[in-house]
Amino acid sequence: MTDGEAVRLRGHHLLCLLTYKGLGYSPAFVAGMTATVARLVAGATAEIVEGPDDICEPLCRAEQNPHCHETTVPERDRRALSLVAGVLGCTLGIGDRLVFDETLRTRLRAAYRNGAFEPACALCEWQPLCRDIAASGYPDTLFRTSGETI
Ligand code: SF4
Repeated sequence: MTDGEAVRLRGHHLLCLLTYKGLGYSPAFVAGMTATVARLVAGATAEIVEGPDDICEPLCRAEQNPHCHETTVPERDRRALSLVAGVLGCTLGIGDRLVFDETLRTRLRAAYRNGAFEPACALCEWQPLCRDIAASGYPDTLFRTSGETI
């Protein structure tokens, strides 16, 4: 991936961006996630992909049994895409592109806090933590500019 290319993003990572505060499966995952978040906040275009994306693909290659091979993960992607599309009032599928400007980030954070994405996050071990982050107003999360109201 070069700076001019779209950030490849799988469905449920649209949600993970919202609550991300520098925690993850390993230092390599955190480094990749932090870099991706920074690119998206700076205005990079995201392209929805199926399966491993720019966040988890390096981890997937390095591990023998990466968590993304669990059967619930593709379903988590499907649910996340469907729920985000519902919140935005559009269709959203593989190959579609979007830019996460402040308005979109704010809209998705509000929806997350209101429980709109629970059916997708219910399939994830991190849900209690992410729910707490959203409920407490997204303190220290990184998917925003320094002056952004959340
Ligand atoms: S609960 Fe899991 S899928 Fe949902 S935002 Fe958190 S890490 Fe991502």
